[in-house]
Formats: sequence, structure tokens, C-alpha cells
Amino acid sequence: MIVKLLLDAKREGRELAEGDIRGLVAAYTRGDVPDYQMAAFAMAVCCKGMTQAETHALTDAMRLSGACLDWNEPDLPPTADKHSTGGVGDKLSLVIQPLAAACGLRVPSLAGRGLGLTGGTVDKLESIPGYNASLSLAEFKNVVNSCGVSIAAQTAEIAPADKKLYALRDVTGTVPSNPLIVASILSKKLAEGAGTLVFDVKCGAGAFMKTREDAEALARALVAGARSAGRKAAALVTAMDDPLGFAVGNALEVDEALDVLQCRSNASNVVELSIEFAARMVSLARDVPLVAALEECRERLADGSAATRFAAMVERQGGDLAAFRTRPQARHVREIFAARGGYVAAIDSAAVARAAFVLGAGRAKSTDALDFEAGVVLAVRRGDKVEPGALLARLHANDRPEALEAASAEIFSAVKWSDSPPPISAFILSSVN
Ligand code: URA
Repeated sequence: MIVKLLLDAKREGRELAEGDIRGLVAAYTRGDVPDYQMAAFAMAVCCKGMTQAETHALTDAMRLSGACLDWNEPDLPPTADKHSTGGVGDKLSLVIQPLAAACGLRVPSLAGRGLGLTGGTVDKLESIPGYNASLSLAEFKNVVNSCGVSIAAQTAEIAPADKKLYALRDVTGTVPSNPLIVASILSKKLAEGAGTLVFDVKCGAGAFMKTREDAEALARALVAGARSAGRKAAALVTAMDDPLGFAVGNALEVDEALDVLQCRSNASNVVELSIEFAARMVSLARDVPLVAALEECRERLADGSAATRFAAMVERQGGDLAAFRTRPQARHVREIFAARGGYVAAIDSAAVARAAFVLGAGRAKSTDALDFEAGVVLAVRRGDKVEPGALLARLHANDRPEALEAASAEIFSAVKWSDSPPPISAFILSSVN
């Protein structure tokens, strides 16, 4: 394999041979291909695309660049995981994964720390005192096999080629390419090894995919790629114009997830989407009709089984939920009130995310520390009728009280008003079964 010839071919839009793609990824992972050549490759893929066969070869080569977990133990329950492309206030994994475990699945879930406006699932869980997300792969397996579920941080052993390539794409303008995104997401999820994969592809102002067309294309490609690797798979394209639930910020989102698990939350989008995703995992993994799986998920949420699984996982990973529940809130809490009355027509999730970020809930670079308590708790949602002077949101800050002004401005600009009730909007835009 001569890298320069591969670059010439891709630049001209020719299909690369499977062996050449595998060779390129293996050589790049070993350090035998320099970043400048790999960046040129990524840019050529951005411009010229990849065929399905090329995408599968890239995915598989990246999967095989590190450890691959094997859950094929016939005496134990089937395995399933859910992956989200990420949204504002997206605490769904904290509900879905224990709910699917409560329905009899094993749920191995390796998740990321967030880079950008808000934290990732692992950051959220690490706001629980003592929670250890940095498990070895052997520890991860033990927790899954004993509690039915573990949410842990992606280890360096899983798809190291993706880690290296994603860091390069991030600084070379080559993130937005469907074949590269599919290979990146799938290589990690396939190496994690769950037999069923369900994808949440977010679509809208607060999501990576802004248009329904793009989101559906990514959903189809992820499902096709997972199936061709021998997994059961489905995807839902879900709305990400308004934030998910009311809380945006790490510990604040765990509070909200606990409320959902204890059936005392009116965050209907979080509740309904959690049930829909968990049910798809159960339906595919256990081969039961979706209606029966939906019913079972509703029951397991209502009877507290999902909450019990979550508590068991947290305890097994060293977390102290009692200490979390009784923790002091952020030192500065500012309430924001409506300057006018009317109906909430929309809440711009990107603006809410910026508010949470300036308060300290996100990180601009991987070495930044998060303020777990920082963030926003909205008091209204789309469709609410609001009187002038009513509470719109609470802003939580510790070390950055000076950011409260900018965050308030973001919240005022996030809330869009109308004089009549806005149309009811669906949480699920489309599905790929
Ligand atoms: N998420 C990933 O894991 N990889 C991408 O390329 C984009 C989003």
C-alpha cells in the first residue's frame, strides 16, 4: 500500500480496495502514516464520499484496531446498547440503560466525556460522589454481569484508531462526513460488543444534524452498518429543537433522571423517549413484539425496577447516591422571570446550552475542569401558557457568578413567544427498523 496513491485515487473519487483501507488504518494506528497524510485522506473522503463497501471496511478496520468485547455467553441474557449523537439536556442514557436492564437485558454501555457546550453521559455520572466511570474492561464486564448494566468511560483499548483519527478530524474541518461519522460511531459500538444496537439520531437546532434529510441518511447508514456486522439494529430520528427535559448541566441532569426513574417528573419528552428506546432494545434483543416491549418498559419504570437497577449500578461503581441527593446546591442561583405573558412557542436549545456552558457546565478543551453543579433548570417548556412575571428558569453557578448576566441573556433569547398555542410537535420524527 502506497499512501500517496490511495490519496490520488480518493481525490479522483475512485473506490478504494478493502485491503488498502485496512492497511491504511493499521499503519496510521501504529504511527507509520503521518497525520498530514491521514488528514488529506479524511478531507478527500469529506469531498468525495465513500461507497458502502469502503465504509464497512473503514469501520471494521477501526473496530479491530483495539480490544473487542465478547458477550456471547448463551446462559446469560442478551446484550443491547443505545447510542445517541448527542443533544442538549440529553440524560436519556441514565434512564434507558437501567430500564432495559430491568427488562432482563445486559446493557454494556461505554460512553464519552463531553467536549463542547455540555457534559457527556460519563461527566453526568461523575457528578455523583465516588462514581467510578474509569473501569478496566474486566471490571466493566463484571458490573454488567452482576447488575445488568454498567455505564463507563470509553477505555483507550477500544477503537484507538478512532480516537486518533477523531482528534485529527476535529482540528482539520473533517468531522462532517457521513462515512467518517458512521465508521467512528460504529467502530466503538461494535468493539463494545452488544448484540443489539439502537441509535438515537438527533435532529434540529441543538443537534449535530440540522436537517431531517441528513439525520435520516445517518440513521440508515448506522443501521445498515450495524446489521452488516451481524448485529440487530434500529434507529429513531428524534427532535432536538427544544432541550430534553428541563435541566441542562451535569448534576442537575442526574437529578432530573432520578426524578424520571422515580416517576415524579413531568419531563414528558424524557419519559416517552426513554420508554421508546428501551422498548426497541428489548424488542430486538429478546425478539418480542414492540407493543409488548413498550408495555413491559412502562411497567418496569412504574414499579421502580429501573430505579433499583440504576441505584445498584451506582453503588457497584462506588457512587454514593445518598450524598448526591443531600449535596449543597450551587453557591449562586439566579431566578429569571418572564418580562411578558403568552405561550412558549419554542425554546432554542443551542442558546440554553450556551447559557449552561458559560456557567461552567461544559469544557472547551479536554483538560478543562467541569463545574458539576453549574447549569440551567428551565421552569417552562414549549406550549406552556405563561403569565408576565412567572419564573422562566433558574441559573446555577459556583465559580463564575459574573457569567450569570450572559447566561440570563441567552435564556431570554432562547424563549420564543406566541399569542396562541404552538402546534404540538412530535418527539420522534422517523424510525429506521
Ligand atoms: N460522534 C462520534 O463518535 N464520531 C463522529 O465522527 C461524530 C460524532
